[in-house]
Order: sequence, then structure tokens, then C-alpha cells
Amino acid sequence: MHASESTDRYFREAANIMGLSSNMQTLLLTPEREVKVQVAMEMDNGEIATHIGYRIQHNKSRGPMKGGLRYHPEVDQDEVLSLATLMTWKTAIVDIPYGGAKGGIQIDARKLSISELERLTRKFIDEIHDMIGPDKDIPAPDMGTNAQVMAWIMNQYQKYHGFSPACVTGKPVELHGADGREEATGRGVGLLTIALLEKMKEGIEGSRIAIQGFGNVGRYAVQFLHERGAKIISTSDAYGGLLNEDGIDIHALCNHVEKTGKVVEFNGADAIANNELLTCNCDVLIPAAIGGVLTPEIAPDIRAKYIIEAANNPTHPEADQLLNSRGIVILPDVLANAGGVTVSYFEWVQNRQHFRWELERVRQELDSIMTKAFDKTWDLATEKKVNLRLAAYLLGIGRVGRATVMGGI
Ligand code: GLU
Repeated sequence: MHASESTDRYFREAANIMGLSSNMQTLLLTPEREVKVQVAMEMDNGEIATHIGYRIQHNKSRGPMKGGLRYHPEVDQDEVLSLATLMTWKTAIVDIPYGGAKGGIQIDARKLSISELERLTRKFIDEIHDMIGPDKDIPAPDMGTNAQVMAWIMNQYQKYHGFSPACVTGKPVELHGADGREEATGRGVGLLTIALLEKMKEGIEGSRIAIQGFGNVGRYAVQFLHERGAKIISTSDAYGGLLNEDGIDIHALCNHVEKTGKVVEFNGADAIANNELLTCNCDVLIPAAIGGVLTPEIAPDIRAKYIIEAANNPTHPEADQLLNSRGIVILPDVLANAGGVTVSYFEWVQNRQHFRWELERVRQELDSIMTKAFDKTWDLATEKKVNLRLAAYLLGIGRVGRATVMGGI
């Protein structure tokens, strides 16, 4: 199944409940603009490598379009489109004044040297600089990209357009970035995990958590939850997984990752395969890596009571149905991982005002936006008797739809 088929299915389910006409549904699903460019670059060995880059701008009815840039071997036009639509609903659900976009290059960034990565990024910006900008479309990090890549983007964009730090977010703190941006997605995931457990009358203390992925999202979510008393029993990265039923020593694991760059071969836990992580005996399962991992095949074996979608689009719609029917509560990606884009918004605001916020302020404002969006989604789910994903889509689509109608075509 294509990624966009699954995200569109969630959209249509919510749109039908709202009674949106099929013309309106088509309008809201159709991207504004899809761009596909050649990104040719010279490798360190002198050979030429040609890649395809995408930037897809889905919707701008609520503000400039916003979304990350993914460097990953599985990137294709359909995946980027699906992720761009998720950004539209996500920015609307947390009510920040943006639309949605996404970009990417189909490449394994881990195989590039630092200077190849820089050349690739600059070449890509040469191709798309005229379609992005602080009031048009603002890229940010996603899988395979980081603050350094954002710094190159800013620098390359400025060669064409002059000083403009707000043209991209997720920049290094030394270079117009915001304190707290790097931890933001993981912090939001942690916060809402606790908020959900509270609603379910369960505490975080001692609750057993399995989290797939130890990247920028997984690592900070693990730290946040561990500090608040959760027991992290399983985690993983692209190389393999770890399990320790008594709880992994997170401090020691972080030191190990710092040294080796991987979670595998850590002494304090048993090695397991990624699928074993997904089906391990935990209370909360947090997919925080690639999309599509919760398949219809694996769904019957999942033992968690709660799933927090830190990754974008981790759940196949048929698995979603099955998990719902089994009474497993899913906190959807468009809400659970919105902390990253929320602090991107704070970074953009600070850049535009040339005024730096303290970390404490960033955290406070993030916590307040995330909690508000969670409470609204929860109340809507209760009122309409629907699951949290549908409620979040109802909230997001409602806001985008009303902005579209009021603005006019
Ligand atoms: N890539 C992140 C996401 O999927 C962050 C996007 C942003 O900060 O604009 O939400």
C-alpha cells in the first residue's frame, strides 16, 4: 500500500463524519505544488552521482507551508506527498499558523562523507530556493538530516536572497537556532504519553515502555520518560534491538551510544530483532523510526495497551482498525510528534523578531501548546465517540477547511 493511500484513508474517514462534500475533500487532498528536481553532485572520488529531490507543498490556507526534509533510501514522491499532508493536519491540530509541506532525497545519507552531504544539500537548495522562504515554505530536519544540514540550507538560500535566518528551522543554536528545538519532538512525545496515561488513570511511574528508534526523537523521549519514573524495557536502532525486562540503565546506554554510535552490543540488555521489540510485553509501545512498521500481520501480536506514534505514519490502516478493535489506544502521529514543528515555529518567531528566548520559555510554551491540543482532541473524541486519530483529524481538517472557505478560492 502506498503511504498516501493510508494517510488519505484517515482523512476521508474523518471528512465523511464531518459531512465534507467530495469536491471539498478533493480540494483539501490535492497538493498545491509538487516539484521533482535533479540533484547531481560530484562524489569525493570524482565520480558523478545523480539523485532525485522532491519538495511538495500541500496546503497554505493557514499560513506559509512547513515541513521537514528527509534523506532516506525509501523516499519517493508518494511518501513525500503523504508526509506533506500530515504536516498540514499537524500544524492545524496544534494551531500554529502554518500549512504543510515536505521534501526529501532518495539517498542513504549515512554512506556520504560530510563534504558530499554538504554538496548534495547545497545543490538541492540551488534547485528549490525560489519556492522556499520565510513567508512561503520553511524546511526543517527530518530523518537523515540535522542541524548542520539546516545551516547549509540557510547559507545557500542567503546567497540568493540575503540575510534570512527564518527560511529554515532546526538550525544549530550557534547559528540562529532555538534552544530546545532538538529535544522538542521527544519531549512532546514524552509529555503526551504521560497525559494519556493520566487520562487512563494510570501513572507513568514503573510503566513499561518499548521504543523503536533511538534517533533524535526516540532518544529524547526515552530520557524524558525515564526521568519521570518510566521503565524503558526495550529500544532499538537501524542495527538491531535491546530488551531488558527489569529496565534498561538509560544513563549507561546513552554513554554507550555516544561512544559507538549504536544501541546494539550494549552489555546491559539482550539483543533482539526489531519485530520482537514491537511485540514485547510492554504497557506503552512507541514507534519512533520509519513509517509502516505496524502491519496487519504484526498487529494481532502486539501486547502494549497504548501506542504513541512518534514516527510519521507508522500504522497501516488495517492494523489501525485491528488495534482499535482490540481496545489498544493509539495516540496518532499528527498529535504525538507535533512538538518538533511547534518549536520550529518558536525558532521562526525568534528569528523574525531577532529576539532569543530562554530554554525555560521554549519548554513552557511547548508544554502548553501540546497539552491544549491533547485536551481538545481528547474532548472531541469523547464528544463524538471516535478514537483519538479520528478526533485529531476532525480538529485539524476542521481548521484547514474553515480557513479555506473563509479565505475563498
Ligand atoms: N520533520 C518534523 C515533522 O515531521 C518537523 C518539521 C518542522 O519542524 O517543520 O514534524
